Amino acid sequence: MDPRKELEKAVEKTISKIERYEAIAGPIAPDNAIGRVSRMDAINNKSVVDAALRKAKERLAGLKRHLDLLGRPEFGLCSKCKSEIPFERILLAPESSFCVTCAP
Ligand SMILES: [Zn+2]
Repeated sequence: MDPRKELEKAVEKTISKIERYEAIAGPIAPDNAIGRVSRMDAINNKSVVDAALRKAKERLAGLKRHLDLLGRPEFGLCSKCKSEIPFERILLAPESSFCVTCAP
């Protein structure tokens, strides 16, 4: 397995996810256009999409940070205990720079 390829694949996937979220997280139509109840729905859905969007952006930033560190001795090491973080965990939770034990 080539870690650079895996990280780049994950970056691409995350970017297309962000684009999808941003497309549906557009402005909510005014009250009279869609009615009160569906407006509430729209607001609820929007906060779900906003949360997902925020998470995807954190993920993207994390993936890029790992890519920057690739090839350096500190790549894949926990920021706290300096033990090696399994690559599967890096792909799963790239926004974290801690191992499972040190993760807050
Ligand atoms: Zn640790």
